[in-house]
Amino acid sequence: MAIPVGLMNLSNSCYINSVLQLLLGIPEFCTRLLEIQATDPFIVALQNLFKYCISVSESGIIIKPNSVIKSLFETTKLFRMGEQGDSHEFLLFILDIIDVRSDSSIIKDLFYGKLGKTYQCMCGFVCKAEEDFNFLGISASSGDICTGFAQLLCSKQDITSKCEMCHLVVTKQVIVVVKKQPKFLIFQIQRFGYNGQKIQTPVKINRQVYNRQFKGCISHFGNTYHGHYNYTGVSGETIYTIDDASVTTVKDIRSVSTDSYIVLYGEMDLVQQQQQQQQQQQQQQQRPSYIA
Ligand SMILES: [Zn+2]
Repeated sequence: MAIPVGLMNLSNSCYINSVLQLLLGIPEFCTRLLEIQATDPFIVALQNLFKYCISVSESGIIIKPNSVIKSLFETTKLFRMGEQGDSHEFLLFILDIIDVRSDSSIIKDLFYGKLGKTYQCMCGFVCKAEEDFNFLGISASSGDICTGFAQLLCSKQDITSKCEMCHLVVTKQVIVVVKKQPKFLIFQIQRFGYNGQKIQTPVKINRQVYNRQFKGCISHFGNTYHGHYNYTGVSGETIYTIDDASVTTVKDIRSVSTDSYIVLYGEMDLVQQQQQQQQQQQQQQQRPSYIA
């Protein structure tokens, strides 16, 4: 796998760089992005940057992403030149722009999943609903991603819609199931509270969440008002931290738990799938015969 190249920080643009690196770390996304017959200036700028970054990987050069940044500020007022931004908001913005302003199904195919929600009203009526998602928010106090995901699936939520049967609006226990897993599963760790305080507790990154493997993590350092982002991603056997222009290798992913903010999981590659199957077979063979 190729060594990624660094992106220059163009005045508080680390939130943009970290998201671009996360997307550049998904080969399937890059291939599909470059296949789009784009006319939208922002998507064209993204395509040109991605094509260039891929062509010069391994070279160690540092790239100025000016055309993407210029085009971004021309296309929206959500982000402003020279001001700090939220990398999660920017990630969702990019996914949305590509989804809405191109005729490609790339975003739906790679990032969208479906949740099923079931709850029973006090009157006994069982309500069912479905919801598409392109990220899942998990609590910063969950300890690790797997626990946060499990908590999300048995969370108590306020149902604001009326019961179809008795028309009451009350708080009910909702059972959430993942009906369709996206190819790439994005978690956002909810570190920024409504009171402006940042929740600093570490959230451990699990190597695997169900049958998805860790691909990368955007970390946030500092507080709600002044902070910095970088990206740590897996490329083949190597783990890289890309901090704007600087690209360094790191030993393991434990170091990113403290400041983890956006965590990406993806489908396992074939070798890993085979290894997991072998492990499961071995575990089954080692089990005493009286355990089913
Ligand atoms: Zn009811």
